[in-house]
Amino acid sequence: MPNIVVVGAGVSGLTCAYLLSKQKENVITIIAKHMPGDYDIEYTSPIAGANLLPMSTEKNSSWERRTWKELRRLAVEVPETGIHLQKSRVYRREKDLDVLRKGGYNFDSLYLENPWYQSLFDDFRELSKEELPEGMASGCEFGSVCINVMLYLPWLVAQCRKNGVVLRRGVLKHISEASRRSHTGGKADVVINTTGLMASKLGGVMDQNVIPIRGQVVVVRNEAPYMLTKSGTDDADDEVCYVMTRAAGGGTVLGGTYSKGQWESQPDPNQAMRIMRRVVEMMPEITGGKGVEGFDIIRHAVGLRPYRNGGVRIEKEKIEDTWVVHNYGHAGWGYQGSYGCAQDVVTLVGEVLNRPKL
Ligand code: FAD
Repeated sequence: MPNIVVVGAGVSGLTCAYLLSKQKENVITIIAKHMPGDYDIEYTSPIAGANLLPMSTEKNSSWERRTWKELRRLAVEVPETGIHLQKSRVYRREKDLDVLRKGGYNFDSLYLENPWYQSLFDDFRELSKEELPEGMASGCEFGSVCINVMLYLPWLVAQCRKNGVVLRRGVLKHISEASRRSHTGGKADVVINTTGLMASKLGGVMDQNVIPIRGQVVVVRNEAPYMLTKSGTDDADDEVCYVMTRAAGGGTVLGGTYSKGQWESQPDPNQAMRIMRRVVEMMPEITGGKGVEGFDIIRHAVGLRPYRNGGVRIEKEKIEDTWVVHNYGHAGWGYQGSYGCAQDVVTLVGEVLNRPKL
């Protein structure tokens, strides 16, 4: 029986453990410093919105394409996941057109004209001129999903437990320690490294290409009629504008910021005010025309997106005498790529264990 230890209980670790646990022969332990229910600046997953707005290039779109299929199925068929379908509007500002036509920034392909993902969503359509707010050159609309991460992460834990996965707390100094942390007492055949941003500090990995992209948000009780984002803001290069209402009373997330290399864990009140103002300008109906004062705030929050120069790392590596399969560095798309990435991890584990290809 292959012994597998997954390090990390964010969306990446839990999705990997869940998919691996569907293969009945696998014996799986999850070891993590933080678990669903915790809030900590080293733990990104509970802070995410989270929705699916494609950011990859067409060449790298396989992770998002595969994940969209599964998240849509969960939204339609499995309400207890806390995922629902919601319309999404993506606006391209007139003043960003030059940059966008040179390849875009911030959210990569999201704002491109004629994006590859128009064929992904059945209901994708370009917005008419009459539907565009002032200053927008164009925009598109499509039905996507919004995940209430407070419900979804525990749902993943529940699926893992149902399939026999054992979860334990543990703080590793070196990735090689994981091979001795199986709940069976035996040595692990494979270790899965899903430590997110902390892959930059974990012994044996110490990936200096991994840096934070700080994201500040305001969570409010007001409901948004649709999700919204636009290609830039006038406030600063690292400030962005987006809105999404989570399923099942999860609140509405107003964003945000996108500050590369910043580790600051505390919300900045000035940024919070600008976030709310930008949203009200784009969607006055969210506060019934009452402006920023009409927001009913649940909390302010900060998360650090685990960005990796060179892109996500999904590969196998022998460290000391143990095979490690890495899956970290998902920046701002960890949920929307979660199933595609975890499927690749399952394939790599199969290679390590010399299993026939699926
Ligand atoms: P994490 O969630 O950080 O989990 C890492 C795990 O590893 C934790 O359990 C931690 O305790 C454990 N760990 C680390 N080091 C050790 C160690 N040494 N020993 C033991 N355990 C260890 N993504 C989307 O797809 N859609 C969105 O709309 C979206 N919105 C976002 C908005 C904001 C403001 C932010 C900040 C992020 C957003 N993201 C979004 C990105 C998404 O949240 C991340 O990509 C994703 O959560 C990364 O998950 P992870 O499991 O890789 O890392």
